[in-house]
Parts: sequence; structure tokens; C-alpha cells
Amino acid sequence: MLEIISFVFVFLVGLIVGSFVNVCIYRIPRKISIIKPRSRCPACQSPIKALDNIPLISFVILGGKCRNCGAKISWRYPLVELANGFLYVLAFNLILHGRDNWGIFVVALYLSTVFLIIFFIDLDFRIIPDSLTISGIIIGLAVSFLPCMHLRWLDSFVGFFIGGALFLTIAEVGDRIFKKESMGGGDIKLAAMMGAFLGWKNILLVLVIASFLGVVFGVVLILSAKDKISARTIPFGPYLVIAGLIAFYWGEQIIRYYLEFISR
Ligand SMILES: [Zn+2]
Repeated sequence: MLEIISFVFVFLVGLIVGSFVNVCIYRIPRKISIIKPRSRCPACQSPIKALDNIPLISFVILGGKCRNCGAKISWRYPLVELANGFLYVLAFNLILHGRDNWGIFVVALYLSTVFLIIFFIDLDFRIIPDSLTISGIIIGLAVSFLPCMHLRWLDSFVGFFIGGALFLTIAEVGDRIFKKESMGGGDIKLAAMMGAFLGWKNILLVLVIASFLGVVFGVVLILSAKDKISARTIPFGPYLVIAGLIAFYWGEQIIRYYLEFISR
């Protein structure tokens, strides 16, 4: 029973933070403060009342429309809140089943939220803000000194360098081959940040998983899209984010299985 209550509590906290994730996705690329003015309807600019700003519930009560002007509210807002809620539950699952400690739980919450913000900003604006990745690199390197982390500080620093160097090389080679920017500076900094949190082995895994996802989704999108051009313009950041979370939770296991498999 206590277990269910704790899961529900973590999920609700995830929804509330998810509401803040929406604010960040909208404001960070537009260079608006994420703290000061209260949320406004993007269509009529009227401030949204606190009661109309409850995660999920307000969207349902308002029928997905602004109370003031009736403009449709994107279904993405509740989706992002739900995604953050589920990611928090996934993180909490780590602790509850005794596989990890509270320090790693906090890191998992942080990564879930920052990755979710990066996922949608890159999808919408094709940029990954430095404010998220540079601070992420510093936090990643700093927490590696904490005794609760599995990653030693040396692994974290090597991961940071390899992540950055590997993606910088791919970007350089890609630019030569495709004669246009294949991977941006944002992707390189994101890879360096992931390296700082995950270590060098996992950053190689991230590259493999992200490329695999990129190819699979790319083919699906090109086959299903009516205009072929828009399908090919999916940025790499979202794939990196999904791969990064997979590596954070299951990287060690995947690498172990892989090594057992090839040593047979
Ligand atoms: Zn409105």
C-alpha cells in the first residue's frame, strides 16, 4: 500500500515538474525568463489563472481550449506532463527495488527533466541550448566525485572528453561527406554532457542506439510522410536523448550481454 502511495506521489510531482518543463520548452529558445511572468495563452496573451494551470486536469476540464479566447491548447502540453510523470516513476523504480541509492535517484530525476526539455526544443527549433548542456557538463563532472555514484570521477572526465571528441569527429566527417551540417555544436555538447554522466563505454552505446533509432524512424517517416523533405529534417538530439536514458538505466546490462555474446 505504502508502495502505491509513494508511486502516486512521485507521479504527481512528475506531473507538476512536467508543467514547468512545458514552460522551459516554450521560453528557453525564445529567451524569455523561465521564472518571472506567469504563463500566458500563446494565442491571446491573457495570463493563465492558477486553477486553469493544474497539470492534466485543467486541460481536460477546459476541453483543450483557452478559457479566455477559446484557442486550442496543443495536446503536447499534457503529453509532456505525462511523460515527465512516467519518467519520474521509472526513476523511483530504481530505488524501490533496492538497485540504487537516493543520490542516483536525484540524478535520474534531473536527467529525465533536462532530457525531456532538450528533446522538444531540438524538435521545434533545431537547437540545443548551451544553458542546459554546459550546466549539465559541470553538474555531471561534479557529481562524479560523490561516493554514491557508481561512476568514478576519472570515468566521468574520460566520458566527457570521448563524448565530445567522438561527436566532433563525426560532425567534421559528416560535413565533408554530406556538404552540409550533419550534426550541430549542440549535439556535440549534449554528447559531452552524457559522457560526463554515463562514462565512455556508455557514450559509445549511446551513439550506436541513437544511430539505430535515427535510421529506423528516418525510414518510417520517409515512407509515411507525404512530402519527403520534412521527413528528413528530424534533428539528432531527440534520438540522443532516448539513447541516453536507455544507457543510463540499462547501459551496464546491455554492454555486459554484448561482451558475453562476442566472447563466445
Ligand atoms: Zn487565449
